[in-house]
Amino acid sequence: MQRIVIKVGSHVLTEKGAIAKRRMLALVQLIAELKAHQYEVILVSSGAVAAGSTQLPLDRASVANRQALAAIGQPLLLKMYQEKFAKFGLLCSQVLLSADVFESTEHIQHAKVAIDTLLENNVVPIINENDTVSIEELVFGDNDRLSAHVAHHFDAELLVILSDIDALYDKDPNRYHDAKRRAVVTTISDEELNAEHTPNNEFATGGIVTKLQSADFLMKHGRAMFLASGFDLSDVKSLLIDGKHVGGTLFQ
Ligand code: ADP
Repeated sequence: MQRIVIKVGSHVLTEKGAIAKRRMLALVQLIAELKAHQYEVILVSSGAVAAGSTQLPLDRASVANRQALAAIGQPLLLKMYQEKFAKFGLLCSQVLLSADVFESTEHIQHAKVAIDTLLENNVVPIINENDTVSIEELVFGDNDRLSAHVAHHFDAELLVILSDIDALYDKDPNRYHDAKRRAVVTTISDEELNAEHTPNNEFATGGIVTKLQSADFLMKHGRAMFLASGFDLSDVKSLLIDGKHVGGTLFQ
């Protein structure tokens, strides 16, 4: 069994302010396929604020409103996942974590026991930041850094980040047409790690910098990260199921 973490960003999971149900189904199908190929999969999913927004049109500019929207949306998000996983005969579960869990070895151990037990019982843990009590995701990270901690502390070999971008480029491909994909990255410079955040839409707060920080953290702990498109899952399938690195960026 190879344990992996898959993180899906809010840009991939939402469309016109609502949950993109077809993309969610494709993601759940991928996880079912991976499980059939002997992978243990932990999912880190954003999307609670977007799901909440479909029910109550609060102004997302305020952190308090985003906390409220996350509280409204989280159970809706999980309900959608439950329905989709059920199509593949799978059970999923909700694990809400806050960043400070990772500051205490006792708390980490506690959470790891729960995660291990879920995985042993063939249940997919779906992790999200507990936004109502901790505002890290809402203010900084779009779960990129949370998912890196999840991968490291819950002992996964690989973190797969499914993004609105299909790889890391030598410059922002949305601004420069001659940007070139970097297939494999083994070191990240301080300059790249401290660059300005570049969130790409109103739901995406991370940008490429938090992905690089996550990759740097994992590589320094002897783990790997794969950045690939969440709109087209073929590069992830090629790597994880066929063992072929076609697209995407592998940090190792
Ligand atoms: P997510 O889908 O995870 O929410 P974000 O929108 O937060 O992703 O971050 C990805 C965005 O970062 C891309 O759409 C792109 O515009 C931007 N970006 C900036 N620099 C780069 C780069 N060097 N390589 C790839 N993407 C970059």
